[in-house]
This record gives sequence, C-alpha cells and structure tokens, in this order.
Amino acid sequence: MSNRIRVGESDLGAAVFAAAPFAAGDIILTFAGPIITFAEAVALGVNEANALQIDSVHYMDLEPPGCFVNHSCGPNSGLLRRTQLVAIRDIPAGDEIRYDYSTTMHEDHWTMSCRCRSPECRGVVKDFCSLPRDLQKHYTRLGIVQPFIVREINGA
Ligand SMILES: [Zn+2]
Repeated sequence: MSNRIRVGESDLGAAVFAAAPFAAGDIILTFAGPIITFAEAVALGVNEANALQIDSVHYMDLEPPGCFVNHSCGPNSGLLRRTQLVAIRDIPAGDEIRYDYSTTMHEDHWTMSCRCRSPECRGVVKDFCSLPRDLQKHYTRLGIVQPFIVREINGA
C-alpha cells in the first residue's frame, strides 16, 4: 500500500485517509481484487458493497485498502479508467478519501441509505441513471464515470 494513504476510522467505520496531500488529478490508489459475476456479487450479501462494478456483467471483489474507501455525495475523488482512484480536487493530508459510488453503478439491484453528511447528500445511493442530469454531466466531463455506463447510456 502506498505510504501516501492510510486506513483508519471515520464516522462511517473503516476509511481511507490522505497521509500526504494530493493535487487534483493525482492517482491515489488502484483498486484490486478477484473479478466476479453479478450473481457472485449478490451472494456476498452484506459484503456486496465491497464489489465494484467494472462492466455490465462483472464486478471486482475489492481487497484492502480499496474496499475501505467510503462513498460521498460530494466526493473529493473519482474512478478513472475503471480501477484508478484519482483526486478531483486538492486534498490536504488528513482528509478522508471518498468517491461517489453512483459513478460505478448501472443496475437497480443495490441501494444504500447515505450518511455522508455532505451538503449535497442525496439520502440514498442509487445507480448512475438516478443522478440529476447536471451531476451526470459533471462526472462525465471529469472522466470519472465507468466506461461501460457511458457506453450503455449513449447506446440507449
Ligand atoms: Zn450522501
């Protein structure tokens, strides 16, 4: 694990923090883990939240430290090229790293009630299509929407 991040505890439980400052555009970490199917992801039960959707039928069963990165409706990072977590604004050392889980979800199966406490909090985390259009465009412009979602939306 990079010494620029550390795993600790936030109000949401296990969490990943910046141990050094990141500038917008910096890669924070690369997610890793075995590739599994949708059925296998559902079978994980409560741990399903650890499964990152990487294309229309495949998930990555995240290993530490990636599985500890929490969701925020007002995130400071996002997912680039499927598995790279990138800073989308400057992040001072000590801040928790969070991304918007909805940028990786194109399915109606999984939702999560949200306690991220950001001013933009949507209350419930649902898939990308549930986001307001302006927010969809904002995330798409930043390049932090999973490519399979961009493809499926443009093809639909
Ligand atoms: Zn929220």
